[in-house]
Amino acid sequence: MRQVFDYVDDIEKQIETLSHEIWSYPELGLQEEKSASLYRRIFEDHGFLVHSVEGLPTSLVAEYGQGKPILGFVGEYDALPGLSQEVSASKQPIEEGGPGHGCGHNLLGSASLGAALAVGRYLKTVNQPGTIRFYGCPAEELGVGKIKMDEAGVFDDLDACLAWHPGMWNAVTGSSLSALIKAEFFFEGTTSHAGAHPELGRSALDGVELMNVGANYLREHIPEGTKLHYIITNGGQAANIVPGHASVQYMVRAPKKDVAHEVFARLVKVARGAAMMTETSVDFAMEKDNYDTKNNVVLEDFVSSSYAFCGPLDFDQEDLALAQAIVDTLPPENYREALKVFDNPAGTVLDGMVHSILGRGETFGASSDLGQITYRTPTVQCSATCFPLGVPLHTWQATACAGSTFGLKGAIYMAKVLAVSAVRLFEDETNVLEKAWKEFKANHSR
Ligand SMILES: [Zn+2]
Repeated sequence: MRQVFDYVDDIEKQIETLSHEIWSYPELGLQEEKSASLYRRIFEDHGFLVHSVEGLPTSLVAEYGQGKPILGFVGEYDALPGLSQEVSASKQPIEEGGPGHGCGHNLLGSASLGAALAVGRYLKTVNQPGTIRFYGCPAEELGVGKIKMDEAGVFDDLDACLAWHPGMWNAVTGSSLSALIKAEFFFEGTTSHAGAHPELGRSALDGVELMNVGANYLREHIPEGTKLHYIITNGGQAANIVPGHASVQYMVRAPKKDVAHEVFARLVKVARGAAMMTETSVDFAMEKDNYDTKNNVVLEDFVSSSYAFCGPLDFDQEDLALAQAIVDTLPPENYREALKVFDNPAGTVLDGMVHSILGRGETFGASSDLGQITYRTPTVQCSATCFPLGVPLHTWQATACAGSTFGLKGAIYMAKVLAVSAVRLFEDETNVLEKAWKEFKANHSR
């Protein structure tokens, strides 16, 4: 395994430069032209075959090697609006209101690239069948990139997928993410003078409001763990005009995609009922249909054992001082909540230890388009310490951490865990892939 670490060490500078460039030039989902072309150039320089999925120009599929097994790493590189921030412990946007890497996707993609290059070099050296593939997935924050890539079939022949996200711990993530359906409902009514001729009007806003009333009653009778969220996206233009158009955006979350679909179908009935009551009409546009993430215990246990090869992650005094200063800008309960997850005997806000599997059997309220991949092939989700304990994603503090030296250390560490795991899977002395597929199929038929 020493050899694999050396390969990652050799390209450490490249990982750092890529991560820094992407962090310094944050691009929103589906606009990641510069980021995607940086990735493309590096992969092509290293002899990878690269193509984009049709209709998704900022996507990338880069591969090296030949034949089976085919292992995949996931990269993302989109930023978030309004989170521009210096590497600093006080709120200092680089560009007021501009985008920033508040989810650490600069680290995410760079580490996966580093791992892919290291594994490519390994495959070249051993001269045995096997293919390593890097998926550059645009617009994770919009939840659409992997859905379109899945529709193009690019995950269909994968034997396993190794994904990660920058986090607060070095651990495999054993919890699953929720399924999510997002749709906007458009009500159409008849406009009239609200004072002079209200009897001639049919209010589209009444339709929206009665739909919301119905949805709030529906809440009591949906399966445990299912959530409904909504916002009114158009409530009319002036109170003295009966609104002819109104709209409401809904999200349905559930631990499993089938439940999300069942509840959504009932929500559509609520919308139709509201339209009938108000003599308006309603239509909806689906915006997102993210599957829940399916866990694979075999693969999780296997990759968890790879962390042991890498050992703990060291941070220096400078890292700890900046991390502590960032944590100090947040409510103290953030840090206290994080401590409930794993014991932290060192007492520092950067936890470099290797931990056991995180949250196995639990369902996390958030969602990701990663779910689609987990329905195609055994998939594992990993985490490495890039953020101090208690720093939430999607905040200016997270953008600062994603650009910091300690964030980068977490990414390089992750590149090693991913590369070691893939090499061990190519060697596969204990038939892990076969066992992972057995579990995947059994899980699928349920
Ligand atoms: Zn993210």
